[in-house]
Amino acid sequence: MNLFRNFKSVTKTCYGRGSFGKLDEILQPHRFQNDGFMVFVVDDYFEDKADFVKRIPELEGDEVHFISVLKEPTTELIDRLRDDILKRRGLPAGIVGIGGGSVMDIAKATALMFTNEGSSVQYQGLNLIKKPGIYHCGVPTISGTGAEVSMTAVLTGPVKKLGLKCDWTVFDQIVLDPDLIASVPRDQWFYTGMDTYIHSVEAITGTKKNTFAEAYSEKSLAMCREVFLKLDRSDVKSDEKLMVASYMGGLSLTYSEVGVCHALSYGLGKVLEIHHCIANCIAFDKLEDVYGDYVQEFKGMVKHLKVNIPQGLAKDWSEETISAMAEVAYNLPHMWDHAFGPDWQKVLDRERIKGWYRRMFGLTWRN
Ligand code: NAD
Ligand code: ZN
Repeated sequence: MNLFRNFKSVTKTCYGRGSFGKLDEILQPHRFQNDGFMVFVVDDYFEDKADFVKRIPELEGDEVHFISVLKEPTTELIDRLRDDILKRRGLPAGIVGIGGGSVMDIAKATALMFTNEGSSVQYQGLNLIKKPGIYHCGVPTISGTGAEVSMTAVLTGPVKKLGLKCDWTVFDQIVLDPDLIASVPRDQWFYTGMDTYIHSVEAITGTKKNTFAEAYSEKSLAMCREVFLKLDRSDVKSDEKLMVASYMGGLSLTYSEVGVCHALSYGLGKVLEIHHCIANCIAFDKLEDVYGDYVQEFKGMVKHLKVNIPQGLAKDWSEETISAMAEVAYNLPHMWDHAFGPDWQKVLDRERIKGWYRRMFGLTWRN
């Protein structure tokens, strides 16, 4: 193995039931930077949950923005949010994201864009950001994407769906409170939970597989098995384990890469706006030739939990749609390099990718 990386971790992590109640205290030392106010970006699911809203430690001068995540975060949304706040109020002391992977990415990307000029479009890629952002803190309310721990903030732009990826993207602080994920609807809980299962599988089934990635991956997979095959969701351990599994699945990628499933998922997301986690499930189901027994295990979880999955998607896809998705997927060389090695172009062309998409006609795991 010769995969030198030098990665930045989340600076501070607070874990445990009720830890959301510590947020006020946690933010206190960071409140006096820049123009001295905090911005909270919160999933708008919580907007009418008065008991929850009361717990957000908003002080005088702070701003709370409730944001819809019906669409995954776009470069336009980030630019608009940044421009609006800078123009009205100046530079915040920090930004706190409270929500799922979408809100984690909004908080991370906006933190960077407050201090980097121009549109976020020009920073989609690796190490393109020029200056550190403002203080940023993530409070996940749904678990699986690992966005709370990753060094990327995935944005859909006019051309690419790609992250702002650099050391400064990583959160300064995360607060992992398993109480917050209890209200996630069952199907969404499964789709997002499967993201960490798939991260953990992809991290250890490609050419960049290594002991470091395996350690996190194996623990995350073991916890996913408990959560999705053994424990009842009402068991107090279930949400506690899922929250840590998401974190570990995210860390399994810091020293490895995602692979075929995520490449196909990006095509589904960019062309058809299918959300990341459900797109992963749709793709993973068809990848037995790549991921073998893991796909069988995944189908077993779907069956066990009787999860509702959309059916027969590809029947309406034109050749043009399939080609467009294949083009998006093909242009993710780092994922193919991990999946098939540096000579991936010898074993993979656009036709092979289209073949995978065509398989998504009907899902084989209908309950
Ligand atoms: P999400 O943020 O898109 O939210 C999914 C749904 O769950 C929404 O309807 C939301 O309102 C709801 N929800 C969230 N918390 C809830 C709660 N406590 N109770 C009830 N409903 C709740 O979900 P996600 O699957 O976590 O995130 C997907 C996003 O994450 C995509 O935009 C994807 O690109 C991104 N992502 C980022 C990374 C990364 O490393 N940065 C990795 C994977 C995915
Ligand atoms: Zn993912």
